[in-house]
Amino acid sequence: MPTPVRIESIAIGTELLTTERVDTHSIWIARRLMEMGLGLQRKTAIGDDREALAALFQESLPRSDLVICTGGLGPTFDDFTKEVWAEVLGAPLIDQPHLRREIEAFFAARQRPCPPNNAKQALMPLGSEALPNPVGTAPGCWWEHQGRRIVMLPGPPQEMKRMWLDHIEPRLKNLFAAHRPTHTLRMLVGSVGESALEHRTAALRQRHGHLEWTILASLGQVELLARSTEVEALEAARRDFELELGEDRICTGEGTLESTVLDLLMARGETLALAESITGGRVAARLTAVPGASGAFLGGAVAYTPQAKLALAGLSEAQLAQGTVSAAVTEALAQGVKAKLGATWGLAITGNAGPTEDPHGPAPVGTSFFAVAGPHGTRTQHSHLPADRPDVQARSTTLALDFLRREMVRR
Ligand code: ATP
Ligand code: MG
Repeated sequence: MPTPVRIESIAIGTELLTTERVDTHSIWIARRLMEMGLGLQRKTAIGDDREALAALFQESLPRSDLVICTGGLGPTFDDFTKEVWAEVLGAPLIDQPHLRREIEAFFAARQRPCPPNNAKQALMPLGSEALPNPVGTAPGCWWEHQGRRIVMLPGPPQEMKRMWLDHIEPRLKNLFAAHRPTHTLRMLVGSVGESALEHRTAALRQRHGHLEWTILASLGQVELLARSTEVEALEAARRDFELELGEDRICTGEGTLESTVLDLLMARGETLALAESITGGRVAARLTAVPGASGAFLGGAVAYTPQAKLALAGLSEAQLAQGTVSAAVTEALAQGVKAKLGATWGLAITGNAGPTEDPHGPAPVGTSFFAVAGPHGTRTQHSHLPADRPDVQARSTTLALDFLRREMVRR
């Protein structure tokens, strides 16, 4: 095993500490590193504050072999990443005429005058190497100093990524060639709780204990991840887990619940129509986010009020009288919308997302009914899990899609 490389990332920019921007660079960088068999040991987001930055750079040096900074290479007064690193390492900043010419050419090519403050972008710490920026004005910086490596990349995402791919990744691959890429096995599991899945797969995870396991729950579904440098080990785990999970497994690999449902429909030459009440169109939104959804998803109705249920899904007053959040009404909605659009499958969802109790029936907050009308009849299911409104809606969306998926794979 090669010795681990200690790597940290530092995202610089005051906006990253507020609600204005999320630091997405560190996630992107972590992913690229993982594919090289490397990983972050620490990450920081920090504001444009000279003293704080100097203190952080100073701390990072003894604990990291590679420090990756993004942001603060711009021409304005609050961009000083290079200056602070130069201070910390006691190196002067040297004007690089060829960089100045490149910056001037960048503006000339866009027929804009070069502002005088861009001149500071041509300054590089003595002993460091400038990295060209073909899509912006700020050159990056690669600096090897007493066995440590410091990387400085511009903040704008397209500039950061381009420079990483062109200049950083090839160098790191070269330097750390002994490290092997980490592969990931991903499985999506539907309608099973995180702790239930953890319990159920404990023995299998132990059998494949040399893999690094992560279980991530979100509303209504759980993601199971295994990482390893050994493709064969992941393949063996895949076979075992697919057998254990059976129809609880939504998909293996990159897919989503909605793409899996669409793939199933398309593979069978079948179509889907929706009648959504509690989910307000969220099921349709998830399906139509998948390119090519029209190959199987015909459309549907947001049948929210009792009048809409009458008009859009052909329900009768007598059916509605049974309470709009009920198995009977949800079944009638699924059958109604299936018939109206001539689809193979009709899926309907009703429920009470709260915060107040349902004015049209006795269903308590957090109750949802799902009905699937298909070629072999209609089946319903209900779930009750009190939560706040967005969570009830999100979970109902996932559970409804998963109920449909299960009904399809059972046939
Ligand atoms: P440059 O050196 O090119 O001037 P900069 O950091 O000075 O970089 P900024 O204006 O701070 O430039 O950043 C450019 C854009 O990139 C901004 O919209 C900023 O919010 C965004 N950005 C910077 N860092 C990150 C990050 N870590 N994650 C996501 N977005 C970021
Ligand atoms: Mg900035």
